[in-house]
Amino acid sequence: MKKALIMLGCVLGLHTFSFAQEIPVKGFAVMEPGFEFQPYEFTRHAVGNDEIQIEIMYCGICHSDLHEARQDWMEEHYPLVPGHEIAGRVVKVGKNVTKFEVGDFAGVGCIVNSCHTCDECNHNREQYCPKMVSTYNSVDYYHDGEITQGGYSNTIVVSQDYALRIPDGADMKRVAPLLCAGITTYSPIRFAGVKSGDRVGIAGFGGLGHMAVQYAVALGAKVTVFDITEEKRDDALRMGAVRYVNVNRPEELEGLNGMFDFILSTIPAPYDMSMYLRMLDFGGQFGIVGVPAFKEIPNLTLDQFIWNGGRKVFGSMIGGIRETQEMLDYSVAHGIYPEVEIIKADAAIIGEAYQNVLDGKVKFRYVIDMSTIK
Ligand code: NDP
Ligand code: ZN
Repeated sequence: MKKALIMLGCVLGLHTFSFAQEIPVKGFAVMEPGFEFQPYEFTRHAVGNDEIQIEIMYCGICHSDLHEARQDWMEEHYPLVPGHEIAGRVVKVGKNVTKFEVGDFAGVGCIVNSCHTCDECNHNREQYCPKMVSTYNSVDYYHDGEITQGGYSNTIVVSQDYALRIPDGADMKRVAPLLCAGITTYSPIRFAGVKSGDRVGIAGFGGLGHMAVQYAVALGAKVTVFDITEEKRDDALRMGAVRYVNVNRPEELEGLNGMFDFILSTIPAPYDMSMYLRMLDFGGQFGIVGVPAFKEIPNLTLDQFIWNGGRKVFGSMIGGIRETQEMLDYSVAHGIYPEVEIIKADAAIIGEAYQNVLDGKVKFRYVIDMSTIK
């Protein structure tokens, strides 16, 4: 049908016919809950006046992609093309675009649109806008309700307001994970007001956790890392942590109650939240960004809050666009990057990488080289 209309448009000389401008895309999707990826071809809407088209060079694999692919949180839309840690080069700009030129490096994180008018948008917290559109698996209210598809693909179209400028001289191979792992840890660390000398705990030392360690160390905090493996002990100390605690070794947890000003949890699986609450000093803060599967989501109970009174608990979701740009500029200027393993854009390899993330076998972030897509 679409083909017939395009042909009709051509015959009638209707060169502005919108179907003709849709952009063909190659990517990788899961067709049902699980980690089985397939090559998947689809289209993106034409580049609007305020939009840019980015040729995707690299895309990180976030643990949220795993949660979404296997429907840990909610019902998903399939076929699902994950990916919200996107770095690439601008190949087309709409006629009103002022922020980018063709050839610039640009990034896309977890958000591709929001309403621009609500209180959250007005305060640069677009991630909390009730009409925020996620980069994938989201209804795009601003484009006829199409379902967004993510960065495991060769190109993306996004409004200039939601694209990030990648600073000159950035290491393109490593920059993509800053767009989610970077901002998701930078934002709560800033929100908590972490400063030099603070005693900071980072629970979960994976993609997000190793960024959090680097930001907290850069601010002069004394950082303790909590994880469940021996494999990452040396890495934590190498990144500037003063202590590494393997929570599977109870003796390493002794004497830590009341010892922290701030703890950030990036843990993606069930765990004892009250253990971390007890480790906070009076006035200390517990920031939570890890989101385990809903069917096994951990909780704090009312009595735990009261018995450990005077401690503050807050959750945090990524960060607004302005803060994401600030984080990118700061990270590149200070040489703060994720440690990455680059993999080929191949369905089987992406599926294998997912299993490795689940099994704790990646240090510390997989990044797909989208230029290798066939
Ligand atoms: P990773 O898999 O890269 O890292 C998770 C780390 O937590 C791994 O090192 C893992 O151990 C460790 N871990 C697992 N269980 C425990 C435990 N009981 N105690 C201590 N450490 C543990 O995941 P990401 O960093 O990519 O993501 C983490 C979570 O954050 C996910 O739930 C994700 O969805 C969420 N997220 C939230 C965002 C937000 O805006 N709030 C944005 C992005 C992600 P091992 O060493 O064995 O691998
Ligand atoms: Zn993410």
